[in-house]
Amino acid sequence: MADQNNKAKVQKINGVRGMNDLLPADAAQWAHLEHVLRDLTRAYGYEFLRTPIVEATTVFQRGIGEVTDIVEKEMYSFEDRLNGEQLTLRPEGTAALVRSVIENNLLYEGPKRLWYTGPMFRHERPQRGRYRQFHQFGIEALGFAGPDIDAEIILMGQRLWDELGLKGVRLEMNSLGQANERAEHRAALVAYFEKNQSQLDEDSQCRLLSNPLRILDSKNPEMQALIEGAPKLLDFLGEESLKHFEAVQALLKANNIPCKINPRLVRGLDYYNLTVFEWITDELGAQGTIAGGGRYDPLIERMGGKAAPACGWAMGMERVLELMKVSESLPEPQAQCDIFVLHQGGETLTAAMIIAERLRSAGIDTILFCPPDGQSASFKSQMKKADASGAAFAVIIGPDELAKNEASLKDLRGTGEQKTVSLDGVLEAAIDALVRSEEHTSELQSHSFIS
Ligand code: ATP
Ligand code: MG
Repeated sequence: MADQNNKAKVQKINGVRGMNDLLPADAAQWAHLEHVLRDLTRAYGYEFLRTPIVEATTVFQRGIGEVTDIVEKEMYSFEDRLNGEQLTLRPEGTAALVRSVIENNLLYEGPKRLWYTGPMFRHERPQRGRYRQFHQFGIEALGFAGPDIDAEIILMGQRLWDELGLKGVRLEMNSLGQANERAEHRAALVAYFEKNQSQLDEDSQCRLLSNPLRILDSKNPEMQALIEGAPKLLDFLGEESLKHFEAVQALLKANNIPCKINPRLVRGLDYYNLTVFEWITDELGAQGTIAGGGRYDPLIERMGGKAAPACGWAMGMERVLELMKVSESLPEPQAQCDIFVLHQGGETLTAAMIIAERLRSAGIDTILFCPPDGQSASFKSQMKKADASGAAFAVIIGPDELAKNEASLKDLRGTGEQKTVSLDGVLEAAIDALVRSEEHTSELQSHSFIS
């Protein structure tokens, strides 16, 4: 007793707020999404590129722009203790990818279609669909100037939502034209808001000076009428910009992709030009944008590369998985293994381990029972574990069986039938039994997503 009282209670350590563990129960859903994403990128000829999680802070300052939510207040930045370099955990993928493309001269032989995925970090207020570490999947098409590639990347998104069985995702699109057109619009916008300055809320007063375009982004209901009456960027687009925008829309229409023109869609970042778009759902509450992107022709040159056009989009994987849950399109949980092997320790363990290895070599997923106390456990408690694993069959090796060079093969899901096989014949019997059971369930499996 005294011992126990003297023992200081060791405090448990929690994870960082807004940064989540991926637990085994959800791992299959992520694997499924990643699988679909890999197939999608292959279907369109996009190549994978991975950048480090840490970059020099300037990559994002230049690549995203100083006057943005991300750079102003969301970045995890720190000084490298050894050399004082300013570093940042990447908040998004595009700037780092462009840094890598320039550094590795990837556009030397012509345009590139690329994709990436991985964790991103933003210091935001954690809530449903908004985390401090979250995951993005993104595609970037670099070196293509035409509206064909804008349409292609949008088709990829639509195909993805269809593959994933997502319901109620709508596409909203706008054109931001070119810098000179935006400058004219901006002047008209500033004049309009200055004329109506008394109606601006505090936030918008600030934005009027720093980035008046972002007033259009305001969610304040009292500002909506004012915003509705503001000069529209679309009315300031020149012939070339309009032609590009119309061509994208025509290609989408030819492919039966519905889209809504939203003149208020501006997407914060100032390097965007021409086409910008978002995929939005009403199913996820306030965090309804599952993906967004557009054209960013000025970026590569701005990052120090040879000028080249570019466009792409990024999607929030947590939000997409959440929408899959709402749409009831998540894959069924899968069994942990095909076969579960039971034994009674000692020589039966040795035989069981050899058989488990033999099964795995033949491509059969196998869990070998290991007693938690390192000694042994009753067949009854082992059988509970076997059932919980979802295995189709159990291989049972007890001392009596082993003495006769035999094992039992038990059907766990169907008839419950148990039959005796020779130790040497376990593999063959297991394959035979699995093939039969798969024939039996193939009708069900044809409904599964993973093909
Ligand atoms: P939001 O307006 O929701 O803050 P954003 O414009 O900052 O989004 P992007 O930088 O365009 O987002 O990132 C692309 C996608 O990444 C978003 O559409 C969203 O699905 C996802 N995303 C962005 N921030 C987060 C976050 N903090 N947590 C989870 N997902 C996020
Ligand atoms: Mg944001």
